Amino acid sequence: MKTRTPEEGFSALTDDAERNRLLAEMAEQSTDMISRHTPDDWRFIYASPAVTHLLGYSVEEIVGMSAYDLYHPDDVEDFRLRAPTVTYDRGLYTHTYRFRCKDGHYIWLESTSRTIRDPDTNDIREILVVSRDATHRIKADKANRRLARVLESTQDLVVFVNLDQTVSHLNEAARRALGLEQIDYTSFEVTRFLTDKGQRLIEGEGFPVARSTGHWRGEVMMRSLRGDRIPVLLELLAHRSLHGDIEYFSIVAHDLTDKKAAEEQLKQYRADIDHASRLVTMGELASSLAHELNQPLSAMVNYLRGIERRFAGNDSIAWGDVELPITRSIRTALRAGEIIHRMMDFTRKQEPVITSLALPELINDMIEFCESMADRSHVRVVTDIPDRLPPVLGDRIQLEQVLLNLIVNAIEASESPEAETEPRTVRVRVAVQDADQIRVSVSDEGPGISDDDMSRLFDRFFSTKQSGLGMGLAISRSLVENLGGELWATNLSEGGACFSFTLNTAD
Ligand code: ADP
Repeated sequence: MKTRTPEEGFSALTDDAERNRLLAEMAEQSTDMISRHTPDDWRFIYASPAVTHLLGYSVEEIVGMSAYDLYHPDDVEDFRLRAPTVTYDRGLYTHTYRFRCKDGHYIWLESTSRTIRDPDTNDIREILVVSRDATHRIKADKANRRLARVLESTQDLVVFVNLDQTVSHLNEAARRALGLEQIDYTSFEVTRFLTDKGQRLIEGEGFPVARSTGHWRGEVMMRSLRGDRIPVLLELLAHRSLHGDIEYFSIVAHDLTDKKAAEEQLKQYRADIDHASRLVTMGELASSLAHELNQPLSAMVNYLRGIERRFAGNDSIAWGDVELPITRSIRTALRAGEIIHRMMDFTRKQEPVITSLALPELINDMIEFCESMADRSHVRVVTDIPDRLPPVLGDRIQLEQVLLNLIVNAIEASESPEAETEPRTVRVRVAVQDADQIRVSVSDEGPGISDDDMSRLFDRFFSTKQSGLGMGLAISRSLVENLGGELWATNLSEGGACFSFTLNTAD
């Protein structure tokens, strides 16, 4: 016997009663709501049981109600306007609208309506409607439209890429930035919009990583068709189907042009500030340079005057008579040269060289350096240094500078007229402050420091001397503090001032 297709089987049912029975059975079991309505005010003549699941009404409750009473107020007008088209022109109409459930909330229904006409008069007898819940679809559509709007309006460049790496869609920002406003870009490979380096990165790393982990991010340089280069932070995503196969890729590229420009500007600012601070340091050093050089220069003048005095009217002077002042002049000149070199190093912004230093040697060198000045000032410089002293940490020239400042100041403060038989004493004392620090004190027999001056002593350019620069103590303090020590001044009870500073030991 020949088998029939289901359609053939259905149409072959000639028995009207049997057909109606089958239709009714399908309507009763369908999850879609099947309803019949009067043509004028769309009153329910019939509703399938799905009405309860869909709208919350029982079949008995809804029969007799007009659909117009359940449309969302915003859709009623729309529905009235469209209704004639539905009824009279095509007879079949699909419409999506909001419908009120029994509990008062609205759901989206998608309904297909069909008019049933009297075969004799062709008058509309009723309207047959099949409705299903479209809330999820409408919500998803809305969400998609919202997402699409965000994608279109974001300033980030969004590019959808097919599996063969051709571009399928670009958002407005990407079209603009890449120069594709008037161009059909769909056959372009995405790598066309990257620099050679960017291409290598995305092909060598980006796509492989996105394929295996779903995501890759990196900074690359994009390139528009016009040739502009756009630095971007690029996110590459691999999108998979439910079965796990990659369907397509998306790229979100954040334009870093402004950030790069800001970084560049910041770098420039930093360089400017660095330069400015170097100029300030140079200015500071220029003052201290003048100050420091003043000492050796006057010492040399003194040595040379001594030689001059010895030579005056004396043709047969022996080498032994001038050897000392001459060697001292040479040493002093070398010292001055060292200071200048050191200052030049500073202006080149070199870091000081911190080494382990033996303090006694350093102190004695400096005292020797000031000897002639002390002589002239009728001052003697003595030391009080314990024997076994641990070495300290510091930069040699910096420490010499500090010591020189303090000793010279002490000599100047202690200066006494020749008439005084006993020269005044400047004492350089070294003591162990604690396990980690050594203290150096330079005390004198001068007038001490007034209360007023005490608070300004370490200010830059504070000086009570006629030709003083007022930089010595300020610089000395910052040098000592940079080495992790402290420098301070006190007045001695027996008269005179005492300047002390601490240094870290090298052990
Ligand atoms: P300058 O020696 O060029 O004046 P300093 O910074 O070395 O600059 O000293 C600042 C001021 O501190 C001096 O002018 C002086 O008034 C005061 N001062 C420094 N050392 C002593 C000291 N041993 N006794 C008294 N006053 C001092």
